[in-house]
Amino acid sequence: MSSSRPVLFLVAVPEDADGDADAGCVQVDPEAPHLSVMDLGVTRGDGIFETISVCDGRAQALEPHLARLAHSAHLLDLPEPDLELYRRAVLAAIEAHDDVPELSVKTVMTRGVEGTGISTGWVYAAEAADSTRARTEGIRVVTLDRGLKHDVAQTSPWLLQGAKTLSYAVNRAALREAERREADDVIFTSSDGYVLEGPTSNVILRRGDTLATPRTDQGILAGTTQASVFDFAASIGMRTEYAVIPVAELASADALWLVSSVRQAAPINTLDGVERAVDAELSARLTAYLLGRRE
Ligand code: PLP
Repeated sequence: MSSSRPVLFLVAVPEDADGDADAGCVQVDPEAPHLSVMDLGVTRGDGIFETISVCDGRAQALEPHLARLAHSAHLLDLPEPDLELYRRAVLAAIEAHDDVPELSVKTVMTRGVEGTGISTGWVYAAEAADSTRARTEGIRVVTLDRGLKHDVAQTSPWLLQGAKTLSYAVNRAALREAERREADDVIFTSSDGYVLEGPTSNVILRRGDTLATPRTDQGILAGTTQASVFDFAASIGMRTEYAVIPVAELASADALWLVSSVRQAAPINTLDGVERAVDAELSARLTAYLLGRRE
């Protein structure tokens, strides 16, 4: 990790924006305190976020990330985020940050200080950790039962499965469970036996020349990286499909990946303690495509 300094912009609905280009989007000291202890994002995890990869100064899938922020806000009955402000803050944060090969830019919007009805927002940019090893050698993954059926989004929408909320304590606990099982990451499965997603990633299987991923109506996040991977696959003549995937199909797949912003495409080299081959060639092509270092 280099010593480059993170950059923070506060995003606030401007009270009077007449003619003020900076209204609603202000750069502040990232080391100074800015949040109230009464903010519902802190006290209840009541808010939403996005994490956007930036490679060589270019934000990856910025518009899909902003659209997903708005979708998450809708699912949580939050005020509609001012996407123009968030877009401006993301681009300003990239501009203000030192030039580094890979940045991670996080946009956060909470329900705000209790009782005010005014959301709190910010955009934080920091240099991304080096993911080279995960992208090339791969990662060890365990399957963990999420304890919910695959149709939970339809039967219990109040559980907010499929929204990118700030309530990620469960996702973090799953990663600690993976560590206890000597693994790096997790694939959540449904209680009725289907493949879902990782705590911060989507699952992709290769079967011959087809890439498959779990259908996003199963209470999982529609991934921006997964969508980019499918774009690439289609461009090189592979087939792609969104499917309901029984857990047993993981073991029989030709290759597996967890894909997400920042780490990008991480091939799975061990599943539930069983080693498996990584598709090094396709992994390298995916990484090059996702990082915008096109062939
Ligand atoms: N699923 C979950 C639960 C996530 O938190 C994330 C990203 O953090 C993803 C999937 C992958 O989404 P993306 O590729 O847009 O980063």
